[in-house]
Amino acid sequence: MKEYHRMITQLKLTQVELKDVNAILKHASITDELTKLYNRRYIMDLIESHLKHHINPMKAVIMIDIDFFKKINDQFGHGTGDFVLKRLGEVFTEVLSGNPIARIGGEEFLAIIYSENAPQLAETLRTEVEHIHWDIPDLKVSISAGVYELMSNENLERLLERADASLYKAKAMGRNQVYSYNEF
Ligand code: GH3
Ligand code: MG
Ligand code: MG
Repeated sequence: MKEYHRMITQLKLTQVELKDVNAILKHASITDELTKLYNRRYIMDLIESHLKHHINPMKAVIMIDIDFFKKINDQFGHGTGDFVLKRLGEVFTEVLSGNPIARIGGEEFLAIIYSENAPQLAETLRTEVEHIHWDIPDLKVSISAGVYELMSNENLERLLERADASLYKAKAMGRNQVYSYNEF
């Protein structure tokens, strides 16, 4: 009987541990390891799900890319580059207050916006980054952003294409800019 109780206690512990392990695994599967933002797969799944179910309607997406990031790595080292990515992740999270954002590539980010003010939010992101105090002499960091406000009958491919085209415009206009999509 004693042995039986011991086994039950052991099994219960294992159940609790399994729950913890599952929670850790779930978190890891949707998180970008460096910045702790969401990862690419998670935000793409989230957009697909919003497009399908229309429960929590997203109004826009913002695609962001750090300007001349290769130069930052070259001039200050990869460690500083990583530090910049992490710090920007914190700033983005704070400004976007609840609107999800992911690191979708090396120095590229994608945010889902549920409110009507995506262009203003993108502009705030840009200025907040511009005004970060880095404590590293000569380090200057800026971002470019493309905003795409959704139309009816969206699909993932078109949405990404248009956000990306807007980002490309912001880059072409000289970087450290926000460009909002309207029919090119
Ligand atoms: P642009 O203004 O046109 O965006 O120029 P860019 O230099 O930012 O763009 P490019 O695509 O030429 O370079 C991106 C660089 O980002 C190259 C790559 O080494 C760096 N990078 C990608 N992922 C990471 C990372 O996780 N950490 C660091 N430190 N650098 C990364
Ligand atoms: Mg870049
Ligand atoms: Mg890039």
